[in-house]
Amino acid sequence: MMIDGRRGGLEAIRKRTPRYDVRMSDSIFSKIIRGEIPAQRVYEDDAVIAIMDINPLAEGHCLVIPKEPAETMADLSDAAAAAVGRVLPRIVRAVQKVTGVGACHVLQNNGPEAGQEVMHVHFHVIPKPQGGGLSAAWNPMTVEPERIADTGRKIARLV
Ligand code: AMP
Repeated sequence: MMIDGRRGGLEAIRKRTPRYDVRMSDSIFSKIIRGEIPAQRVYEDDAVIAIMDINPLAEGHCLVIPKEPAETMADLSDAAAAAVGRVLPRIVRAVQKVTGVGACHVLQNNGPEAGQEVMHVHFHVIPKPQGGGLSAAWNPMTVEPERIADTGRKIARLV
């Protein structure tokens, strides 16, 4: 094909086109990253921003957001995940110092069924002051140990 001859084929075109491009994303977090809408930024580097949540569950509630506009954790590249992982403990320490609250949740929702409202992957850092912060029901199931092991082996084969 002509286009293949001129440009090195479809594979070359794919290589020049990132799977995710924050310039093409319309999520509210991409707009914040591009500076199109305001946010209280607490951290920024090439791959990550952290902002204050506008509807905090507790004082100091921050969001740590990779600039790569992956919708959910399953879509996130290893490099972007590593960049977020490097920043998270620093944000947690700063939030703890500023709020004086040592306990906190690092929470990450994937999919509307799991409570995700903004479809651009992000991590909540939510202080847990006494009597405040996040309330979540934790309802463990009773599952046979062999079934747990079997599921674990299936997951391990795919990682
Ligand atoms: P999730 O339900 O995990 O998708 O969380 C989305 C979070 O983004 C919520 O806690 C919102 O309060 C927060 N949020 C939405 N819009 C903004 C915004 N413009 N600036 C800061 N936080 C926001």
